[in-house]
Amino acid sequence: QKIVIAIDGFSGCGKSSTAKALAKILGYTYIDSGAMYRAATLHFLNHKVNLENKEDVASSLETLKISFEFNPETGKQETFLNGQNVENEIRSLRVSDHVSEVSKIKEVREELVSQQQDLGKNKGVVMDGRDIGTVVFPDAELKVFMTADLTIRAKRRLKELQEKGQQVTLDEIVRNLAERDEMDSTRKESPLLMAKDAVELDTSHLEFDDQVNQIVSFAKD
Ligand code: C5P
Repeated sequence: QKIVIAIDGFSGCGKSSTAKALAKILGYTYIDSGAMYRAATLHFLNHKVNLENKEDVASSLETLKISFEFNPETGKQETFLNGQNVENEIRSLRVSDHVSEVSKIKEVREELVSQQQDLGKNKGVVMDGRDIGTVVFPDAELKVFMTADLTIRAKRRLKELQEKGQQVTLDEIVRNLAERDEMDSTRKESPLLMAKDAVELDTSHLEFDDQVNQIVSFAKD
């Protein structure tokens, strides 16, 4: 029987790589809710939307179309914004630096949460984010809350971005992760918090395969 697996936690804990691996092992669909907030952020930046202006935000949301497509060449799922492949661009520091400002807007969350609920309605999904176990799927059969030491997270993220050819320093990443954690945890709308029925997983000293296998074993219990 297929279930919904919600993976929440701080920025850069390895939620998405873990969720992806998990989905592959279980034959589930992986949905990266953060990519949706990132795509919305890129859309607003591209259209120079004034985030303070509710009407601007609302009308820009009407022209926002996010989709995911599997690329057989890379074996990866990629994010599309109004038909354009934005997978790399949404991971840039420019987008990372604005995404928490965008994700605290109530109307943005309402729209994306409803799209996420729709994407997960057939079960057999692993979704990662900040409010999946608390807001998007409060009835998820398995909820995992991931944490890890900030410096360890930043070093992992640096390696990932450097492999993609992005120019960025460890300090910039530490600052960005810390800022996002702070904003995401203290915002009014759906702040980042651990669901009461979530299992906490500190990945600071776990090997990647071990953390994936741990969750697979939770899913099978
Ligand atoms: O997961 P990722 O780091 O790509 O998410 C980027 C940002 O999107 C987070 O820092 C947070 O502000 C926002 N987000 C959110 N709720 C989610 C997923 C992401 O607010 N479910």
